[in-house]
Amino acid sequence: MAALTETLGAALEEIRAADLYRSRRVVESFLEADTGIEVLVDGKRRVNFCGNDYLGLSHHPEVRAAFIAAAAQFGVGSGASHLVTGHSREHHALEEELAAFVGRPRALLLSTGYMANLAAIATLAGRNALVAEDRLNHASLLDAAFLSGATLKRYAHASPDALIHLLEEQPFERAIVATDGVFSMDGDIAPLAAIAAACRARGAWLVVDDAHGMGVVGATGRGSLEATHLGIDDVPVLVGTLGKAFGTFGAFIAGSEELVEFLIQKARSYIYTTALPPAVAAATRAALRVATADNWRRDRLRALIARFRAGAAELGLALTDSGTPIQAVILGEPRLALAASATLATQGLWVAAIRPPTVPPGTSRLRITLSAAHTDDHLERLLGALAMLAT
Ligand SMILES: *Cc1c(COP(=O)(O)O)cnc(C)c1O
Repeated sequence: MAALTETLGAALEEIRAADLYRSRRVVESFLEADTGIEVLVDGKRRVNFCGNDYLGLSHHPEVRAAFIAAAAQFGVGSGASHLVTGHSREHHALEEELAAFVGRPRALLLSTGYMANLAAIATLAGRNALVAEDRLNHASLLDAAFLSGATLKRYAHASPDALIHLLEEQPFERAIVATDGVFSMDGDIAPLAAIAAACRARGAWLVVDDAHGMGVVGATGRGSLEATHLGIDDVPVLVGTLGKAFGTFGAFIAGSEELVEFLIQKARSYIYTTALPPAVAAATRAALRVATADNWRRDRLRALIARFRAGAAELGLALTDSGTPIQAVILGEPRLALAASATLATQGLWVAAIRPPTVPPGTSRLRITLSAAHTDDHLERLLGALAMLAT
C-alpha cells in the first residue's frame, strides 16, 4: 500500500493541475469598526465583495454589545448539548423571536445551517423515503439526503415540471422535496409557488432552505416565502441560517409544534452536539431587532443591486438572472475565474473565484455579493475594475 503522504500528494497535484486548488486567505484586521466591509487580507487593503453579511450586521455596535454583555453573564461556552444543560434563556428567547419573525408556531435553534439541513431531511426522510432535490441545491441538502439512506433524485434546476415528472414516475410512501429558497451560487429565487403546489397535490413534504433569503428578500425581510406569499401549509419545513444576513452564527428550523417537538426527540445533529454559545444567541437577538427595524438596509441593497446590474449590462457581462445580493459573473473555465479574481485584487477588491465542484463544470465564476455596508464609491470601483475584464 502506498504511503498516505504520497497518495495524497499525487491527488493534490491533480487538483492543482486542473486549476481547482483551494487556499485560504488570512484576514488580519477589519478596517471599519462598525461594518467590517474593508479588510486587511494578506497584508493588503480590500473591499469585501464576496461575503454573506448582506445587511452589514456582523460588526454592528448593538450586536457586539449584546454579545459582550451575554458573555459576561453566561460565560463563553454553553457547556453541554441542549437536552442536557446547554439550553439557556438566551437560546430559548431567540427561538421564540425567530418563530415570531417568520410567523410560525415554533422554531428550533441549531448550531449551523449544515446541521439544520441534516436535522430537517435526515430525520424526516428515513430509509424508505424518496428525497427530491433541485440540481443546484446547497451541498448540505444533498449530504442530508445521502445520510438518511433515502432514495435521492435530482430534478432540473428551478423546474416544477421536472419535479412533477419525478414525483409521478417514482412511487413513494413518503416524499421530501428540498430546495434552496435563494440559490447560493446563482442568486435566483426558486419557483416556490409552483413547487409548493406540486408537493401539496401529491402529498410530498416541502423543505425550503432560505439561507440567503432570510433577512434580505421580501418586503420586510422575512425571506423567499414572504416574497412568494407562501405559508406553513405550503412549506411545512423552513430552514434559515444566522451566519449570513443576521451577521452572527447558527441556524433554525421553523414549523409546527409537532415538527419541532419531533426534531427535539429525534434529530441527531441537534441532540449529539454542544449548544452554540449563549452569547451568540444574545447577539443574534440584537441582530434580529436591527434587521427587523432597519428597512433602509434592504432599500439600500435594492439600490445597489439595480446600479450593479445596470453597470454590468453596459459592460456586456454575462450575469445570472438574479434580483438578490448574489450577482454571479459566469466566466467558464476555472483559470478564467482565477485570473479575473486576481485582476480585481489588484484594484483592492476581494471577489473569490468559485469553481467546481461548488458549481457545475464550465460555469466557473466570480460570485459577487453586495452588502448594505457597501458605499457608492465601493460599487463604482467594482464596476471600474470589471470594465478592465470586459475589454
Ligand atoms: C451557507 C448555507 C448553508 C450552511 O449554513 P451554515 O450555517 O454556514 O452551516 C446551508 N444552506 C445554504 C443554501 C447555504 O448557503
